[in-house]
Amino acid sequence: MNSTPCLTGLTRGELLDIMTQWGEKPYRAQQIWSWVHVKLASDIEGMTDLSKDFRQRLGERFTLCRPKVRSRRISRDKTIKWLLELEDEACVEMVFIPETDRGTLCVSSQVGCSLSCPFCHTGTRRLERNLRVEEIVDQVVLARSEVAVEGGRVTNVVLMGMGEPLYNYDAVVKAVRIMMDANGLAIGSRKITLSTAGVVPRLVDVGRDLGVNLAISLHGVRDELRDRLVPLNKKFNLKALRQAVLAYPLKSGRRVTWEYVMLEGINDTEEDARELVRYLKGIPSKVNLIPFNPWPGTTFVPSTMERIQRFQEIVGQAGLVTVIRDRRGEDIEAACGQLVG
Ligand code: SAH
Repeated sequence: MNSTPCLTGLTRGELLDIMTQWGEKPYRAQQIWSWVHVKLASDIEGMTDLSKDFRQRLGERFTLCRPKVRSRRISRDKTIKWLLELEDEACVEMVFIPETDRGTLCVSSQVGCSLSCPFCHTGTRRLERNLRVEEIVDQVVLARSEVAVEGGRVTNVVLMGMGEPLYNYDAVVKAVRIMMDANGLAIGSRKITLSTAGVVPRLVDVGRDLGVNLAISLHGVRDELRDRLVPLNKKFNLKALRQAVLAYPLKSGRRVTWEYVMLEGINDTEEDARELVRYLKGIPSKVNLIPFNPWPGTTFVPSTMERIQRFQEIVGQAGLVTVIRDRRGEDIEAACGQLVG
């Protein structure tokens, strides 16, 4: 793999240090930073307010390594899914979901995934490797520049694409810090959501290091059931998960999002709904009921809309905010769990 570091993988502080070492004025760092994160430059050559000599020097030590767009599909509902090819030809997917008042980008954190949740299409692939910092940040940079062309805007980021972000912790934390930089991509911590299957020991760390919104892939509230649906539960069970979430430093007015994929005959009964209510007692929560998105070869079946609505009623009556997630991008296999690269 190319070992020349990429500019998008640097924090502003690191860039500043490098410029100081090079004997440059601090504003050089600001100029470069702004080209990369605000003007979304795609090459160093185009940074025209830097002298030719300086651009050459910069180009000898750094690259701007946008991933290649292998394919790009636009859904009827305007959801966009990209298949991105990285330097070593590994592929990851990224999805943009435009809404009236915002635009959410769903980014990947790993190539493949190690968790093997049986209902998730990504889970049928082994973990190939972690994404590097720049490969995570580049997804936002690339999407920002591509959707801007159509007048769209990436305002929110969810780490809900391929992979388990908390199993690529250091890279994810650094990438998110770069995205949050107020002089750059400037996506605030309230607009970033990290989704995890529940890597319990890391929840304390994310709370301290990032303080972003938290989404937990729950899917079942009995250990015996959740062990099957989210095998990570065998390591970190429901009780440990609940305690860790209770201790998470939520921003004021924020709730934890619980993802619950509705699987017919598996986790969708009225009793399941009541158990869910008991499990969430005392935690400021929002429940996201996700209609199961089938994929070729799966044996799971989506719950009927009646079941999902009944489930929603029970959870809602208990005072919990409960939404049935839209199947955005379903026609282009961009919906939850349909990402395989
Ligand atoms: N590993 C992290 C990030 C992936 S998020 C996590 O588990 O949270 C992807 C979300 O889509 C998770 O909530 C996952 O459980 C859900 N999902 C996976 N496959 C799905 C499917 N076929 N239909 C609906 N949701 C699915």
